[in-house]
Amino acid sequence: LFAGMTEFVKGVVAMDGLPPADRMEVCFAGRSNVGKSSLINALTGHKALARASNTPGRTQEINFFTLGEKGYLVDLPGYGFANAPLPVVEKWQRLLKQYLSGRQTLRRAFVLIDARHGAKKVDEEIMSLLDTAAVTFQVVLTKVDKVRASELDKSLDVTRKVLAKHPAAFPALVLTSSEKGDGIATLRSIIAGID
Ligand code: GDP
Repeated sequence: LFAGMTEFVKGVVAMDGLPPADRMEVCFAGRSNVGKSSLINALTGHKALARASNTPGRTQEINFFTLGEKGYLVDLPGYGFANAPLPVVEKWQRLLKQYLSGRQTLRRAFVLIDARHGAKKVDEEIMSLLDTAAVTFQVVLTKVDKVRASELDKSLDVTRKVLAKHPAAFPALVLTSSEKGDGIATLRSIIAGID
């Protein structure tokens, strides 16, 4: 499903640019710098697959990758950019809302959260959008190699309390490190199990 079968399809800036909704898709969301590109690269086994989405000019695009014939893996633009001009943020939010609420084939969103911090306010905002759009979401903690067990417990605690407030939240969290490989196989099999 992943290695060798994942290809960049296109970057989308408006709803009419979406590829045909002819297969299942999962999307990845997270604040800028959370480790989203690294995770997508680790999942797909491509070194530079998601780099395109981090180059200037592409950061506001919704990037589509194939999951073999089975589906699409969708990389949403990173959020929480403190310095972005308001019109940019508003345009992004509009597209994101349209995509989340209008995409019939979207099966699950993975919301990435830094294991050092746990869920923050900006993460809650996206979770609320997902609630409204009735898109089931699952939290993926990133960079677990960077935290001690006690810090991880604290982040898990904070995050679980937040999740309890969100009806669209899937209860199980996935702990990952793109650096060390933790949780990558688990996440692959979760995605492979989604119809
Ligand atoms: P994005 O902006 O969410 O796409 O984040 P990137 O994937 O570009 O990662 C942001 C920074 O975090 C980079 O310096 C990465 O090398 C680092 N990073 C990403 N994932 C991990 C991880 O699992 N462990 C560690 N230690 N660093 C990571």
